[in-house]
Amino acid sequence: MRKTLIAGNWKMNNDVEASLKLVESLKSLSKDFDSNVDVLICPAFTSLYSVKEALKGTNINIGAQNMHFEDKGAYTGEISPVMLKNMGIEYVIIGHSERRQYFNETDETVNKKLKAALKHNIRPILCVGETLEQRECGVEKETVKNQITNDFAGIEKCEAENIVVAYEPIWAIGTGKTASSAQANEMASFIRMCVKDIYDLELSEKIIIQYGGSVNKDNASEILSQSDIDGALVGGASLKAESFLDIINYAK
Ligand code: 13P
Repeated sequence: MRKTLIAGNWKMNNDVEASLKLVESLKSLSKDFDSNVDVLICPAFTSLYSVKEALKGTNINIGAQNMHFEDKGAYTGEISPVMLKNMGIEYVIIGHSERRQYFNETDETVNKKLKAALKHNIRPILCVGETLEQRECGVEKETVKNQITNDFAGIEKCEAENIVVAYEPIWAIGTGKTASSAQANEMASFIRMCVKDIYDLELSEKIIIQYGGSVNKDNASEILSQSDIDGALVGGASLKAESFLDIINYAK
């Protein structure tokens, strides 16, 4: 049985003080999470260390929102997987559409980053998803299939099983417009099929697939009840402890 993963992507929000305040609210409001639900928060780099320390003794995991693929070197302004691992970071979001769109990330760099994360035992959350234009032209599946094929290229099955895939249709991110649960589940099941084509049935049934894009406490229950969806990657609604915890509670 696949475990549910509810992750909060804080994006470029919360300084250290605000991050610690949010963690304290999460800690004080949360009861024990269901054993079948993993919870993860991904703060900005500047808050990672303080949040990591503040989460000690809880069962909330911590992830980064990006990293470079090289271990070290002359890459001004970048953070390496070695640095993240050394800090005890367990997850990293790779290839978020905002990185692809505003920072020119391509499937080639996403593939390198996935390999680097896996090499350092940091669990990657690979984001894929189509634009509104691509959906309106009916090429959403082709788009996602290309991303999956290119992003997983050259990754062995034993490593690929550690990748979490987040289906995030770009038109649903931060717009308040979610994919319908049927659309989200259809794409999640299609992604499983792509994984089966690259690897095998076993891996396609094992891989964790999240949905992301305007998930909130009002739509989480329906989205999370879909058969091929194993969790959510939450942006805006993860910035408030109450709404994030409500989403986690629907995952039980
Ligand atoms: P929103 O939940 O704010 O739409 O953001 C989704 C997202 O991009 C998570 O990575």
